Amino acid sequence: MCTPADRIHRRLDLLDAGLSRHDIDRAIGLGSLLRLRRGVYADAGTCEPRRRAAQHGGTLACVSAARHLGLWVLSPDDPLHVALRPHGHGHPHDDCTCIEHWDHDENDRFRPPPVHGILRQIFLCRGAEEFFVALESALHARKIGRSGLDWLTKNTSAVAREAIALARRDAESGLESLVRWRLRHLGLTVRTQVRIDTVGRVDLVIGDRLIVEVDGVENHGSAEHRHRDLLRDARAAARGYITLRFDYALVVHDWETVERAIHAHVQRQLHLR
Ligand SMILES: [Zn+2]
Ligand SMILES: [Zn+2]
Ligand SMILES: [Zn+2]
Repeated sequence: MCTPADRIHRRLDLLDAGLSRHDIDRAIGLGSLLRLRRGVYADAGTCEPRRRAAQHGGTLACVSAARHLGLWVLSPDDPLHVALRPHGHGHPHDDCTCIEHWDHDENDRFRPPPVHGILRQIFLCRGAEEFFVALESALHARKIGRSGLDWLTKNTSAVAREAIALARRDAESGLESLVRWRLRHLGLTVRTQVRIDTVGRVDLVIGDRLIVEVDGVENHGSAEHRHRDLLRDARAAARGYITLRFDYALVVHDWETVERAIHAHVQRQLHLR
């Protein structure tokens, strides 16, 4: 990932800044400047997504901008979401599948939107659920504060405000956020990152004693990891807890199965002491 010092430039701005045409050509020759399209250049340190967005005529937006900031994003890498000026125009390029957002009102068209702006784009483009996940990620990473949240409250809708009210700073994974969001209508008490003696921290506890663990993609397969999970489950069982364990694929692609499993326990009141 590039740093804020790595920038995209318009030729006009480089000339305004005092570079000559010869300087620009030399920088290109040396490889410190890359020509993206007519009149648009990138510092060599810029990453590929930012360059592609600039080729398209704008900057990273929405889920692409969130991913660039290191936030949790459920959407795949492709297509790229690009923010353009309201009255600007896009520049389709080779292999262009970009999704355009026409709400970029920064002076510098190549500077990414602020985090609250990115979150609003996600809400409008990808819906409340993905908004909630990205919002909790931004809160956890301390990338949004009170003023950003106030702005979002004013500039979105009732569903987004529901998400803002539910969002917390201590959610540790996008999957966990997703599960909490999808369970919100069941009227359950859901606690996250609960420390249980002899077990350690668990992802979620529903009611008093139904543990829900969501295994991330990185935890696949290792025998050692499996052993540790089984040990945790056994220790939790010894203390009167029931553990339901799901993985990324189940939560994201087969939520019905996950919810049915949770619901069956809740209906029999197994989550309560
Ligand atoms: Zn970058
Ligand atoms: Zn989008
Ligand atoms: Zn494009």
